[in-house]
Amino acid sequence: MQHYPVFLSVKGQRIALSGGGEAAVAKLRLLLKTEAEIVVYAADPVAEIQDWAAQGKLSLVQRALAAGDLSSEVLFYAADEDHAEDARTAAIAQDAGVLVNIVDNLEDSQFITPAIVDRDPVTVAIGTEGAAPVLARAIKADLEERLSPNLGMLARVGKSFRKAVDALPFGRARRDFWADYYFKSGPRVETQGEGAAAQALDELLFQHVYADAQPGHVAFVGAGPGDPELLTLKARKALDAADVVIYDRLVAPEILELARREAKLIDAGKTPYGQHTPQEHINGLIVEHALQGHLVVRLKSGDPTVFGRLDEELDACDAARVAYTVVPGITAASAAVASIGQSLTKRGRNASVRFLTGHDVDGFADHDWSDLAAPGAVAAVYMGKKAARFMQGRLIMHGADPFTPITIVENASRADQRVIGSTLTTLPQDLADAHLTGPALTFIGLSPRRAAATLTKFQQQELA
Ligand code: SAH
Repeated sequence: MQHYPVFLSVKGQRIALSGGGEAAVAKLRLLLKTEAEIVVYAADPVAEIQDWAAQGKLSLVQRALAAGDLSSEVLFYAADEDHAEDARTAAIAQDAGVLVNIVDNLEDSQFITPAIVDRDPVTVAIGTEGAAPVLARAIKADLEERLSPNLGMLARVGKSFRKAVDALPFGRARRDFWADYYFKSGPRVETQGEGAAAQALDELLFQHVYADAQPGHVAFVGAGPGDPELLTLKARKALDAADVVIYDRLVAPEILELARREAKLIDAGKTPYGQHTPQEHINGLIVEHALQGHLVVRLKSGDPTVFGRLDEELDACDAARVAYTVVPGITAASAAVASIGQSLTKRGRNASVRFLTGHDVDGFADHDWSDLAAPGAVAAVYMGKKAARFMQGRLIMHGADPFTPITIVENASRADQRVIGSTLTTLPQDLADAHLTGPALTFIGLSPRRAAATLTKFQQQELA
């Protein structure tokens, strides 16, 4: 791509053009559609240009462009229909630091104007870098035919409704609404003008909001790794406002304390019989409370988008037409790495980091082990306690250095945080010795900044 397409903001900006013949008129037709201030330099302009000047549509300077004329213009067109004159005027513009287009001279132009299909505010720009003007024209003709002449009007009316449409939940409900407007109710009234379109839109919005959308709201909130000070302000606000808080097993009790006193707290971590609550049941709980008109905070440890089965819960909300927002949180990997004085990525060591799960639905999760076994590779393993021996075997099988550093951070950011330095060889034994009881994150390829041996000794003392 030699030319990079952009839509330039020209409102209130000045665009200059040199030339007073047909080439100038052709460019001016398009330029006059913009909200820019147009200045034309021409000693002998054709009548059309003079008329535009008389109507106040552009300013006409009735002489040739001279050095010093240009300074703050955003664009300049040389439309002199004369090579030498184009070169002279283009040089003046260039000296003044203004971007130059020379009509019919792609080579010396700094920018080109694409073929456009104008349904303002919908504008389709077509460029072929000068390679195939015929093709550009054909595409333009095709689109002109395909896009209703009233599309611009529909879009303009739609734009003025954007704020009102915030009443609909984000996501599918809004997309459905706009699709109905642009493809169904809009086209039915588009020939009747803006008033009719606005009325149709208003009615459609009413239907969507009151017939379809449901009351209540769900905020999927990241509770962070445990330390309440690692909550976001948004998370605090959501907890302050919640009617219902549905929380996971790993959410720290100190964080639940922050929920509004009247809020109903529901533990989605286990059933009264000590088993995991099935996901469908959790989805049901979320939707059921939202449909009663409540503000439901679905509190998930760490970041809700990391190994949190968020999508299934979002799907349930979408299916029930319940509005939701997602509030990110600090994920366990970020909290854990902070405690060992390392960073997740490091120049010259690893340009990427992986977040892995030790387990998936099928048991131990499989990964690209040869990639992970490469020197310098860093991975943060979630839910990795039971999978330690499996991962060790896979990594060694794929050629990992047996002394690859491994660090386990238990209860990251919490008062009872522990850091266990290990290596690939000693990992299963070190884990067994550590008797982990809390959530733990395993780093492959990172050692704590302090020497692992010291830490291990420290751990042993602590455990004794
Ligand atoms: N959404 C969470 C992850 C949920 S999966 C997040 O972004 O952090 C649960 C796993 O996260 C645990 O098995 C453990 O590996 C890790 N984890 C969660 N909290 C942790 C903590 N405070 N310290 C160490 N690991 C933690």
